[in-house]
Amino acid sequence: MEEKLDKRLIVVSNRLPFQLIEKNNKVSLKASDGGLVSALKSFFEQNDSEHVFSEKWWIGSADFPERRWQKYTAIKKPIQAFEIDPLFIDSKLYNRYYNGYCNATIWPLFHYFPSYVDFDEESFQSYQEVNQIFADRIVALLRPNDVLWIHDYQLFLLPGMIRDKVPDATIGFFLHIPFPTFEIFRLLHRSWREKIIQGMIGADLVGFHTQEYVQHFLKTLRMVLGINHQFRTFFADSRIVKADLFPIGIDYQKFHNAAHQADVIVQRDAVFKNFDGLKIIFSVDRLDYTKGVTHRLAGFERFLELHPEVREQVVFVLVVVPSRQIISRYNQRRKLIEEYVGRINGRYSTLQWQPVIYRYSHLSFPELSALYQAADIGLITPLRDGMNLVAKEYAASRTNQDGVLILSELAGAASEMGEAVLVNPMDKEEMAHAIFTSLNMPVEEQRHKMVLLQKRLAEYTVIDWVQDFLKQLNEVKDQQRAHKTRHVTSAIREKIASQFRQASSRHLFLDYDGTLVPFAKHPSKAIPDQELIALLKLLSADPKTEVTIISGRSHLILEEWFDGLPINLVAEHGATIRLGNGDWIVENEVDQSWKPLVRPILELNAQRSPGSFVEEKNHTLAWHYRNVDTDLGFVRSRELLDNLYHLVRNEQLQIVDGNKVIEVRVAGVDKGAAASKVIQGKAYEFILVLGDDKTDEDMFRVMDTKAVTIKVGGGHTLAQYTIPSQQEVLPLLKQLITT
Ligand code: UDP
Repeated sequence: MEEKLDKRLIVVSNRLPFQLIEKNNKVSLKASDGGLVSALKSFFEQNDSEHVFSEKWWIGSADFPERRWQKYTAIKKPIQAFEIDPLFIDSKLYNRYYNGYCNATIWPLFHYFPSYVDFDEESFQSYQEVNQIFADRIVALLRPNDVLWIHDYQLFLLPGMIRDKVPDATIGFFLHIPFPTFEIFRLLHRSWREKIIQGMIGADLVGFHTQEYVQHFLKTLRMVLGINHQFRTFFADSRIVKADLFPIGIDYQKFHNAAHQADVIVQRDAVFKNFDGLKIIFSVDRLDYTKGVTHRLAGFERFLELHPEVREQVVFVLVVVPSRQIISRYNQRRKLIEEYVGRINGRYSTLQWQPVIYRYSHLSFPELSALYQAADIGLITPLRDGMNLVAKEYAASRTNQDGVLILSELAGAASEMGEAVLVNPMDKEEMAHAIFTSLNMPVEEQRHKMVLLQKRLAEYTVIDWVQDFLKQLNEVKDQQRAHKTRHVTSAIREKIASQFRQASSRHLFLDYDGTLVPFAKHPSKAIPDQELIALLKLLSADPKTEVTIISGRSHLILEEWFDGLPINLVAEHGATIRLGNGDWIVENEVDQSWKPLVRPILELNAQRSPGSFVEEKNHTLAWHYRNVDTDLGFVRSRELLDNLYHLVRNEQLQIVDGNKVIEVRVAGVDKGAAASKVIQGKAYEFILVLGDDKTDEDMFRVMDTKAVTIKVGGGHTLAQYTIPSQQEVLPLLKQLITT
């Protein structure tokens, strides 16, 4: 209870969603209409017992003067949903950050407009500086139980900056815009890419609107930092991080019930009166080149061209909301739109009728809601959009459950709104056709689709979205606590040794490279020395102890090195096994026909990466890159992995991203399965498993919980314990037999 009482929620966004209004020398605070702030407010009003926060804070940059804030804080304030903590950032710096890196680099790139992107190092510096200002403020006020929720692309670096200073902080990050494919993302300068991804994974939970954005992010994570995921969960150092989709919802009831609101009714009647007898097509967007307004006009124009018979029966109400006017590209866009509207109206208007009614202004809620209700068609066709709330609001507002939503397939909302008429926003023919068929869609069909759309919107509102995100953030923190592996201290080492001594039957599974011997420049140089051979002899001399060396090496090399020792040898990760001094058993006489498919790709990679080479074993092909220049090796290995994943998708093959080696081998053969076979039918009182690489995780996974599993080195592991380096392995093994 204590802990809950002290738990604060701190929401962080670039701009505060609050205005400070000064009237008659009196200053008052007013929350903006933004979806997020009202969602969070309603969420708190619900008094959800799972997320009791003692205080709620909102941190962001202020768009009011500091002097006004001082005036406000000097007076006694009424109780409000959030405490607010404004940052006053120097306007020149803010301009380079916001209009520069945020909106002239990230925004166009992440919306697939690479030719609009400015690649300016100075604006990136400003971006870093502003993120650092946020970080400093937050670190100064952060308390141990606080939950931080950081929003959007303006603050990509912030989670990482906070994590550096407060390693245990609880941090969620949500991206409200698309996350593009790696081919687009990689256009960013190399150092920017890394900083952005490192920044994001400073969070414990990284949220996106759609599955596609999550996939793009996970691939980028692999390509940029070499981090792989499993079911959207991955490790940043040894911390579990999750990426997941949380498609933002809307305040469904607000839009659905607005039809009964007096001020909305007045506006709606006015719209009907104005456009009496006409079918209304409606769209509203912020002024932005991503919204596809000129393409939409082209589609509408084409519709008028193709269907002269309906010309005087429809009107297109096009509302553009002012936005980012300081950026010249936005002003140019406005000019283009207005010229286009003029052209269409000039060409098709009659004395009684005008095809496009254009408005460049904000709409009040009653105006917006009235238009949603009056419109027969919602024509929402962005060229790219993270989500697009207008599409959802239009559907929610259809109290009579009629109307047709025409929606761009490139809006995030399209992934949840399959009942809409989905269009390619670049294709004016398709759009013209969609307008025509929507106008002629039978009401029954309209209702059928609208009912389904509304059901989904009502079931996952913006409050559910908040709840879902915070709940999953909590769960990730629980997982992190559960997964903290323990280092082998001297006390634990003594405990393990004592368990070993007390047991009357023991089995040791020992990986070779990176565990029994350090890595060498070339695998052929990592030969067991006298000390190791002597130790293995001593261990295996005791009839109570069985020793298995379990390796990815070929059976020929293992035989050469360990022949004569009474130990089991497992080669090629389990493809070939020799028990004691018996014969080698080839587990499955497997098909080799895949090798000609994979070999040329590995060989090509070897040619392109000086210092690397291909190793061929019975069941495995491996590309080793330990001696390749670090940066080049890393890039080549990520590219190779990507090619291989595509290539072997339908084959019975497995790709292992090992320590400076990428291996392709037959699926189903792994060290876990092999270790199980070796101990099958026998009961041991003590089992120790030691390994350093991903392939050893298969052993850790299959072992009984009583087995002692130890990972050598850092990184994620399923093992019970870790030891930091290979140098500690032999001393540990020696301790087992030192009484
Ligand atoms: N909206 C607004 N003022 C207006 C017209 C619309 O605040 O004059 C709201 C609209 O209700 C919607 C939001 O702006 O909630 C636009 O969100 P969307 O996701 O469609 O696009 P964004 O502007 O975030 O790119």
